Amino acid sequence: MKKIQMKTPIVEMDGDEMTRVIWKMIKDELINPFVELKTEYYDLGLPERDRTEDKVTFDAGYAAKKYGVAVKCATITPNAQRVEEYNLKEMWKSPNGTIRAILDGTVFRAPIIIDSIKPVVKNWKKPITIARHAYGDVYKDTEMKIESAGKAELVFTGKDGSEQRQTVFDFEGPGIVQGLYNKEDSIRSFAHSCFKYAIDTKQDLWFSTKDTISKKYDHTFKDIFAELYENEYKVKFEELGIVYFYTLIDDAVARVIRSEGGYIWALKNYDGDVMSDMVSTAFGSLAMMTSVLVSPDGKYEYEAAHGTVTRHYYRYLNGEETSTNPIATIFAWTGALKKRGELDGLSDLEEFGRKLEEACIDTLNCGIMTKDLVNLAENIEAKPVNTAEFISEIRKRLEEKLQ
Ligand code: NAP
Ligand code: MG
Repeated sequence: MKKIQMKTPIVEMDGDEMTRVIWKMIKDELINPFVELKTEYYDLGLPERDRTEDKVTFDAGYAAKKYGVAVKCATITPNAQRVEEYNLKEMWKSPNGTIRAILDGTVFRAPIIIDSIKPVVKNWKKPITIARHAYGDVYKDTEMKIESAGKAELVFTGKDGSEQRQTVFDFEGPGIVQGLYNKEDSIRSFAHSCFKYAIDTKQDLWFSTKDTISKKYDHTFKDIFAELYENEYKVKFEELGIVYFYTLIDDAVARVIRSEGGYIWALKNYDGDVMSDMVSTAFGSLAMMTSVLVSPDGKYEYEAAHGTVTRHYYRYLNGEETSTNPIATIFAWTGALKKRGELDGLSDLEEFGRKLEEACIDTLNCGIMTKDLVNLAENIEAKPVNTAEFISEIRKRLEEKLQ
C-alpha cells in the first residue's frame, strides 16, 4: 500500500512518563505504517525542558503559531517533588500555560462517546464541549484578610493621574476582601476562539455568565460576545444553521442537564474549571476526554485532557503490564492529521484521520477495552486488554478500513 503524503509539517510535542511510552506506540503502529509523516519535532519531556532551560517549550509554541497545527503529548508540570525526582535546575512552568500564552488560545474539551458507556445524565446523546476562558478572575486575584473595623476601597489610578474610587465595604469587624481583574483583549480573544471553533465544528455556541448580579464585570463578557457575534460571525452562523445563545449561568446549568448535548458551552474561568469536571465525570472517563487549544486567529493544538498517568508509569518501569487507555492521545493525533489535511487540501489525510477514529470506536464497540473502561461498560461482554494489545486490535481494524 502506498503511504499517504503530507505537505506541511505538524508540530509534534513529545512528553513524559506513560503517555510518552504510548506516544511512540501510536506512531509506530497506527501512523507511520500508513502515512509519510512530516512533523517538526520538539521534545517537551521534562529532562529536555530542563536541559534547554525551557527554551524548547517556547520554540514549540512559536512553531505551532507558525504552522497552525500541533499535537502534544501530556507533560509533567513540575512541583517540589518533581524538582527533586528529576534534579531540576528550576521549577519550570506548565508547558500548557506557556503554549496557551503564546497562542493566546482557548481550550475546548469534549468527550469521546461510545455505545456501551452511558453518560450519567441519561438524555445526553452527543458530546458537550466546554470552552473555558483560562485567564484572570479568581486565579489571578488579590486577597486580604481584614482583622478589624475599617473601610475597604477599590481604587484605580490612571496613567494620566486620574482616579476612580469606590467603597467595597465598611467593615464593623473582621472579614475578607478580594480583588479580581480581566483584560478586554483577553475576553475578545476568548470570544473569537469560541465563535471560530463553533463554525469549525458546526455546533451551536452557548455562553453564560452571572451578568444580572455582576453588572459591569460579567456584563462586559456578555457585551463583547454580543458585539463580535453581530459584527463578525452572525452571517456565517446563519449560513451554517448554527445558533449563538446567551443565557444566565443558572439557566444554562438547568438547560445543559435537560439537553441532549451537541453544542459548545463557553464559560468564564471559574465556571469552566468547575463545570468541565462535572461534565467530564458525567460522561464517564478522563481517559476519553479530548482537548484542543484554539487561537483567535485559527491555530490548533490537539492533546489528551489527562496527564502523564504517573501511577501506571511506575508500574511499567517495574516491568508490570499496564492497561493505560491511549484513546484520547490517538484522537489528539487524528485531530491534528484531519486539520492538516483540511488546511492543505489533502482529502486522503483527512480520510485517514477519520478511519483511525472509526477503528478505535469499532474496537471499543467490540468490547475490547483497557481496564479503566471495562468497569464502566454496560450491556456488552467487555474484555480487558493491555495497551499494546489494544493498539494492535485497533491496527487490525484500521488496515481493513484502508484496504
Ligand atoms: P493523570 O495523569 O491524568 O492520572 C490520574 C489517574 O487517572 C491515573 O492514575 C489513572 O487512574 C487515571 N487515568 C488518567 N488517564 C488515564 C488513561 N489514559 N488510562 C487509564 N487511566 C487513566 O493525572 P495526575 O496523576 O494527577 O498527574 C500526573 C502528571 O501529569 C503530573 O505530573 C501532572 O503535572 C501532569 N498533567 C499533565 C497534563 C497535561 O499535560 N495536559 C494534564 C494533567 C496533569 P488509576 O491510577 O486509578 O488507574
Ligand atoms: Mg477543575
